[in-house]
Amino acid sequence: MTAQLIDGKALAAQVRAEVAARAAALTAAGRQPALAVILVGDNAASQVYVRNKVAACAHAGIRSIHETCAADLREGELLARIHALNQDPAVHGILVQLPLPPHIDAQRVIEAISPLKDVDGFHVASAGALMVGREGFRPCTPLGCMRMLDHIGMRDLRGRHAVVVGRSNIVGKPLALMLLAANATVTIAHSGTADLAATCREADVLVAAVGRPRLITGAMVKPGAVVLDVGINRLEDGRLCGDVDFETAARVAGWITPVPGGVGPMTIAMLLANTVQACARA
Ligand code: NAD
Repeated sequence: MTAQLIDGKALAAQVRAEVAARAAALTAAGRQPALAVILVGDNAASQVYVRNKVAACAHAGIRSIHETCAADLREGELLARIHALNQDPAVHGILVQLPLPPHIDAQRVIEAISPLKDVDGFHVASAGALMVGREGFRPCTPLGCMRMLDHIGMRDLRGRHAVVVGRSNIVGKPLALMLLAANATVTIAHSGTADLAATCREADVLVAAVGRPRLITGAMVKPGAVVLDVGINRLEDGRLCGDVDFETAARVAGWITPVPGGVGPMTIAMLLANTVQACARA
């Protein structure tokens, strides 16, 4: 079997076009959606992520407020800035780029963001809302994965087994809850899972979100399964690769996402969607 490709770039473009149309309508009604993006320090990867988010906002007609702070910014100053943005009715989404310098408590900073403006979906109130199935912002990467499943006609996963490899707070755990809400039977695997290959082979939907290049090989994929590769790993030669060994997995899977051009582009698209949603709800 040779898998069909889930083209994240094309699907993200579609989502971004939908977002742009909603943003234009809100702007015409006198309420342009706005996202504040705060970067602390000069982490090179974070600078690229922030630049991409700001550019994506501009393309979608979303105003962005981009604030860069010195690496030695005091936590109190950052919290004060967030409080000011919380109060500003012209700002609908607030995002603090992670990681933060070690002297700043990242969770405390995230908790300072109003849940109404928590477009990253990392606040405990957002996590709690996901847990109990209430309205709230969902983290962008898992949301992008769910949109991809929807796109290939797998909105309802009743009777299917989803295996998520990785249990981080921003990808693995929230995605597992979203898959459960879509009626899948869900397994979360992690570095302590005894026979990872056997667990993965059970999966009708297999998600890799670990950060280990090519951990998941074709021998670990059930024939016909949907394979979503969240991993973004930089190899020594500078190329990007996912957590899935694409070549061998694509021979067995029914559907598969590439890296780059898979889940990655969906993440920013869902951030824009959350921002427009925050504005519409405000
Ligand atoms: P993380 O490091 O916080 O979490 C990794 C998880 O994988 C942990 O729960 C760990 O238990 C599990 N794990 C590690 N090794 C394992 C193994 N051998 N077998 C099974 N489980 C194992 O990472 P994260 O923030 O969730 O990110 C994971 C990957 O996804 C990274 O490569 C990151 O760059 C990428 N990522 C991509 C996007 C995107 O937009 N595509 C967004 C966020 C993260």
